[in-house]
Amino acid sequence: MHPLAQLDHAHVWHPFTQMRDWLKREPVVIVAGKGAVLRDVRGREYLDANSSIWTNLHGHHHSKINAAIQRQLKMIAHSSALGLANEPASLLAAKLVRAANPQSPTPINREHATKVGVRNPQLGKVFFSDDGSTALEVALKLAHEFTRRARSAGVSPASRAKVQPRFLSLEDAYHGDTVGAVSLGHIDLFHQNYSGLLFKTNRVMSPYCYRCPFNRAKPERADAREYRQCHWECVGLVEKKFARQKRKGNPFAAFVFEPLMQGAAGMVPQPAGWLRRVTEIARHHGALLIADEVMTGFGRTGVAAPGKVRSHRHANPRFHKRGYGAVLFACHHEDVQPDFLCLAKGLTGGYLPMAATLTTQKVFDAFLGEYGEFKTFFHGHSYTANQLGAAAALASLDILQGRKSIRARQNLEVVLRDELQTLWPLPNVGDIRRVGLMAGIELVRDWRTRRPFALRERAGIRVCEAMARRGVLTRPVGNVIVLMPPYCTTPAQARKMVRAVFDSVREVFDRR
Ligand code: PMP
Repeated sequence: MHPLAQLDHAHVWHPFTQMRDWLKREPVVIVAGKGAVLRDVRGREYLDANSSIWTNLHGHHHSKINAAIQRQLKMIAHSSALGLANEPASLLAAKLVRAANPQSPTPINREHATKVGVRNPQLGKVFFSDDGSTALEVALKLAHEFTRRARSAGVSPASRAKVQPRFLSLEDAYHGDTVGAVSLGHIDLFHQNYSGLLFKTNRVMSPYCYRCPFNRAKPERADAREYRQCHWECVGLVEKKFARQKRKGNPFAAFVFEPLMQGAAGMVPQPAGWLRRVTEIARHHGALLIADEVMTGFGRTGVAAPGKVRSHRHANPRFHKRGYGAVLFACHHEDVQPDFLCLAKGLTGGYLPMAATLTTQKVFDAFLGEYGEFKTFFHGHSYTANQLGAAAALASLDILQGRKSIRARQNLEVVLRDELQTLWPLPNVGDIRRVGLMAGIELVRDWRTRRPFALRERAGIRVCEAMARRGVLTRPVGNVIVLMPPYCTTPAQARKMVRAVFDSVREVFDRR
């Protein structure tokens, strides 16, 4: 075994990993990367088919991001945001605000806004933190405190103590591993053991068309969203949940969701129109919207409307003129503007851990006061607004908004869409669901019955191990194989990724 692998075995505890299995074989030790390729200590090369756990955007060792970090390094690596401002963080905050408030030709939520008298929130304030989990913690605490203060105004101290803002999130939600984020999560396998540590939240059905009890359609060789037969019962359940909570006298303070695609739930996509519908219900009931775009942000969900791969020419011209290039956030595909936008993973192009929670002036104002009123947001991290991370993020956003990247993303989306079709003949492929440049391939015993593999059979893990032997690295979510290529992936590399899925599924299941 390579000495570095031995050191790993001796001392490193890996996340979300059964370490007994890990210790049985020599790990792949990565030493370098270029574009979509990772190289290990033995000189073997692999395609990074999940963008290094959904973080990387433009490929590894990108000359522009490298140069931006090196330039910043010549100045300073880090100084505290507690009491000090810094150059790249100020520039980045301004740039994020511009990107998060596009001047779309159809003002976001305009129709709904006039109906219920809610103005489209402008996300003008940015709170930096370190990773996806902390981005959610910030939104959670801000929404909790904002609601508590709003609902306590003018009530007696005794009643004030009873104000307990309540959160609603989705079935199978995953928002991170810190205790607040885990409280919002509803994946029993990950979360149940910690129930003693958590605060109570509510959950509501999320639209998992492939396994939805309300979908009366028989399985077909197509994405279940396309052939589903239902009456939007899932949306009806959201409405009921909000109404019931209101009757209890404690309406939900906030609705927390991953827009367009729930990642760790198993790459579960939402049918077109779902997000718009449920967020209108939430707004109607006075709830704040917390959008977790940790996975979906920064162009992952596609340049054009989901499901419609449009040519570059047809991308929104207003965006182009203003230099925004294309839709960067999943919410904006459905003209939804949240009150909190949580960003991490791709923020630095996959280079450094950094996160941002964007929110409105209204939320910000609720924390203003005389020092002695102690309305301060007492929250922060040592590395908040780190200069190296901010410099990388500025460079990454520049690349992302450039024409070259937009065109590359559009082309890659077409290739991925077409290549994925080649997997339908496999009887163990039950559903293939893609949103932009993310795809989940659900493995089943037989597509005709949708019968799942038991988790302990490690179906997804075995297929990914077989893919690694073919030089393609990814991680499954249960029985779902995830493909999430970096944006610089060439058509030939994308074909190789999908071909590796095809060959590996056959290798693992065709032994009868
Ligand atoms: N939210 C979503 C949607 C995620 O996918 C993840 C991580 N997979 C997180 C939050 C947590 O992010 P992190 O691992 O950076 O804390």
